[in-house]
Amino acid sequence: MIISKQKPREELFEQLDGVNSLFLIGCSACATECKSGGEEEVFEMEEWLTSLGKAVTGSIVIDSPCNINRTARDLRSQRQQVEEADAIMVLACGAGVHSVAIKSNKRVIGALDSLFLGNTRRIGKFEEKCSLCGTCILNETGGICPATLCPKGLLNGPCGGMEEGKCETDRDLDCAWHLIYEALKQQGRKNVFTRIVPPKDWRKKKHPDSLDTD
Ligand code: SF4
Ligand code: SF4
Repeated sequence: MIISKQKPREELFEQLDGVNSLFLIGCSACATECKSGGEEEVFEMEEWLTSLGKAVTGSIVIDSPCNINRTARDLRSQRQQVEEADAIMVLACGAGVHSVAIKSNKRVIGALDSLFLGNTRRIGKFEEKCSLCGTCILNETGGICPATLCPKGLLNGPCGGMEEGKCETDRDLDCAWHLIYEALKQQGRKNVFTRIVPPKDWRKKKHPDSLDTD
């Protein structure tokens, strides 16, 4: 899931200069789960904008605005309300903002900051476990990612600073390589720990990336 949070209101306020009316778009997937752009947050945003004297011509919560065709379809279904607005405010991750930007000729205001690909620990608590490097080495590391969990991104660890399983950069953090050792031990694969993981070929992580499965 893409973890996002709302931009500070002061930052959004600056974006509203010269904008008198807005159409709002939320996301019923990730941004709803993050409580940054679901129905409730769209409603709160509408209240805030109204209190500033802005007109809200309408709103919609799209099922995954990162889906370009679905976003285009939902924008068409609200054509009149969208047309009446000076700008569209999108409470979704950057991918959602992009879908709206390419499927509408209106000014688009992104209301969220997209943070990371996250695992859910519990409602409202998210943790980064994979940083989408493009060449996954989890088969060598017991399913635990050192590229993400080790602040130094060491592919062969631990470094000399590990103490009692804790990371030298922050003693509250578990050392990624201690976790990897424990995972491999539990899986009966301790021998894998001594393998040297070759350097990553970062050329495979290109921007913009794409995948066509046809
Ligand atoms: S190695 Fe780590 S960052 Fe790369 S894809 Fe695998 S889990 Fe994600
Ligand atoms: S202590 Fe472990 S997690 Fe911390 S920097 Fe060293 S190897 Fe990485």
